[in-house]
Amino acid sequence: MATQTYLGIPRHLLQWQPTIDTERCIGCGDCRDFCPNDVYALDEAANKMTVAHPLNCVVLCDKCTSACPQEAISFPDKEQFKQTVRELLKRLPRCACSGGRA
Ligand code: SF4
Ligand code: SF4
Repeated sequence: MATQTYLGIPRHLLQWQPTIDTERCIGCGDCRDFCPNDVYALDEAANKMTVAHPLNCVVLCDKCTSACPQEAISFPDKEQFKQTVRELLKRLPRCACSGGRA
């Protein structure tokens, strides 16, 4: 299976995924129903949503925040994240993680 990448950066190096405030989450499932990428899964015992497949989250997408009635979903700061991407892109040609671009 091909490695997921974003602008040539291995996806697993990028911390872009939702965070759920479990104090606010009421387990309604709206975020899971909204997202087409199978990012979320409900912990039925706790009745709280979990981020089961964070790497499935589309980089820089944050659309599911609007689906949550509890304002329980947050994402990293976009500008800080973009800066991190720029720094990774500068390092990537010399990085062993680049899959042969060194
Ligand atoms: S940000 Fe987009 S891809 Fe990521 S979990 Fe939310 S709806 Fe799904
Ligand atoms: S939409 Fe919000 S309250 Fe509902 S399950 Fe998702 S995070 Fe929890």
